[in-house]
Amino acid sequence: MQKNELVTVTIEDIGINGEGIGKVDGYTLFIKDAIIGDVVEAKVMKAKKNYGYARLMNILTPSPYRVKQPKCPMARKCGGCQIQEMEYDRQLAFKEDKIRGNLMRIGEVPAEVLDQAMEPIVGMDNPFHYRNKAQFPIGTDKEGHIITGFYAGRTHSIIPNTDCALGVEVNEIILKQILAFMEEYKISAYDETEHKGLVRHVLIRYGFVTKEIMVCLVINGNHLPHGDILAERLAKIEGMTSITLSINKEKTNVIMGSQIEPLWGKTYITDYIGNIKYQISPLSFYQVNPVQTEKLYGLALEYAGLTGKETVWDLYCGIGTISLFLAQKAKEVYGVEIVPQAIEDARNNAKINGIENARFYVGKAEEVLPEYYAQYEKEHGKKAHADVIVVDPPRKGCEESLLQTMVDMEPDRIVYVSCDSATLARDVKFLREKGYELARGRGVDQFGHTVHVECVVLMSRVEK
Ligand code: SAH
Repeated sequence: MQKNELVTVTIEDIGINGEGIGKVDGYTLFIKDAIIGDVVEAKVMKAKKNYGYARLMNILTPSPYRVKQPKCPMARKCGGCQIQEMEYDRQLAFKEDKIRGNLMRIGEVPAEVLDQAMEPIVGMDNPFHYRNKAQFPIGTDKEGHIITGFYAGRTHSIIPNTDCALGVEVNEIILKQILAFMEEYKISAYDETEHKGLVRHVLIRYGFVTKEIMVCLVINGNHLPHGDILAERLAKIEGMTSITLSINKEKTNVIMGSQIEPLWGKTYITDYIGNIKYQISPLSFYQVNPVQTEKLYGLALEYAGLTGKETVWDLYCGIGTISLFLAQKAKEVYGVEIVPQAIEDARNNAKINGIENARFYVGKAEEVLPEYYAQYEKEHGKKAHADVIVVDPPRKGCEESLLQTMVDMEPDRIVYVSCDSATLARDVKFLREKGYELARGRGVDQFGHTVHVECVVLMSRVEK
């Protein structure tokens, strides 16, 4: 296969990044935006020995799984969605297969166990407009107009678009007002390469339950000229609750600056997941799809099987979302999280909900838990025990030393919430070798039109 060669390919598979995969005379090609079942014409862009990457040029025969028209005209260019052109049901099937495939290959879980344990993936009722948070970069186009939109895949060039199909509809109204204000008062947009200009990003958050709106402008300076006029205009939007500035003068890819200055209203909004109330400030971590999060954490709670007598650990607890869910049904909950600000939020969230049986520790789970375990043994002359341990680690999963301490605490149940089924599968393999069996499991789609998928599994201790 040669670079620039034009080939006709039938797409037979889908890669982990959502790309179509097909073969030409035994040579594998990866083709972005091609869908299983498509017959496409593609141009080879990069040819390695056994495989290559090609660009989709023409769809000769569309796949039955292809939507007639993607909702967003920018779907292909934008780095946000990878599989928006695929029918939603098929997206769900792809995600379900991905989880099962990883558990089988990496986790070495036998098919019979998976058949018994795995339940159908939980999809969204409406896979659009589900995100409660968006961060829009602000820039200038070639004609000097202020623009906002999204970064094109793997770059930092802005594709103008104020109407993202995954975000809430009020985003567009807010962004248009900000752009008009900037043009009117000659407020400059930040230029990343020159490290000049003022407005870098706009963060918008929306409380799905409370309908409260937060706007935070990230600026490369201490002050937004005529900020009071912008605030006055934005405040007229129904639901506007918090308008702030985030000061970020660093030459960095990190979006938010650590200093928050109030411009109008409160410095936080309030929202609910289930019956638990959360205060969310511009810097707080908060799940971006609250509707599906409630379903995911509802499952975690169900798998935890609490009766009110249990001691529960919630590792990687963030702002305590799962911990507070569990605390209502357990004797006591211990949360562990590495980010101090998140733990502050977790404690505050416990307080505003009147939850008194949750305790939070700042630190690495793989340090806090083993230290607690060793200390407990020293003080009490016996092993620390947990009835249930919940983990919700970032993509890299859990360290083996942590898994070992968890096993040492002999919980009846380990509930593992994961955003990467490959590392989940690796950790499931370890736990299966240490006397735990995969008893239940289920994917929950939190990020429709992207290739990401969350899942939760229950590992039950096998009676000895
Ligand atoms: N369950 C949480 C979110 C989990 S996301 C919630 O719903 O709010 C994963 C969390 O793990 C993040 O908050 C991240 O800051 C934290 N984290 C990352 N590495 C960690 C570590 N080694 N020990 C403890 N927490 C860690």
